[in-house]
Amino acid sequence: MDLPWVPSVELGEVLAELPARQRKAVLRVVQAEADCVALTRLLKTPYSCQWCGLVVGQSGTPRDERKGMLEAHESECERRGQAWRFVCSLSIYYRKWVHDAAFVSALAMARREITEQAMASAVVGLQAGTQDAVAAVRRIIRVGESEANQLRAAFGLLDRAGVETAQKATTTVAGELEYVDVTEGELAAIEEALRGESGAE
Ligand SMILES: [Zn+2]
Repeated sequence: MDLPWVPSVELGEVLAELPARQRKAVLRVVQAEADCVALTRLLKTPYSCQWCGLVVGQSGTPRDERKGMLEAHESECERRGQAWRFVCSLSIYYRKWVHDAAFVSALAMARREITEQAMASAVVGLQAGTQDAVAAVRRIIRVGESEANQLRAAFGLLDRAGVETAQKATTTVAGELEYVDVTEGELAAIEEALRGESGAE
């Protein structure tokens, strides 16, 4: 993402409680998501390129063939000269970290913050009459933010941009995120904005 992301003091305190590897991982994972870099590139597998992190071949490919593809790829890639930094191995991430409550909640908090900061910057862009705002909304949607976060982001944008929105019914999901019901008119406004952006590409 083109905006520098600064974790809040609150998030900093949560991160400080994590082991160093997980702390770095949270920051790198949310940044990668914002940049639309696949998470698999951050997780080391036996078929990951040591120079760029790319996972070579498909899982259905025979093992020897896949090893050969990896060697060929790595010799092409070697000119980068600097080893890729993985946050951890794929198996540690999926067998341990995603079941670790402290890690998961820190990651969720970091995602909320980076989304809010992207939106704040999007609103500034929209007020300045540029298409950057809508591009930012699209990015949030593309990086797989939760539905509740996407809606909050979209409504924050519409509200601050002065788009008329109907009375919204607000409920709380899992005692955490605020979820806002969408009306037809609001959906149309969001879709219209996204169409305008894709036409400008
Ligand atoms: Zn590579």
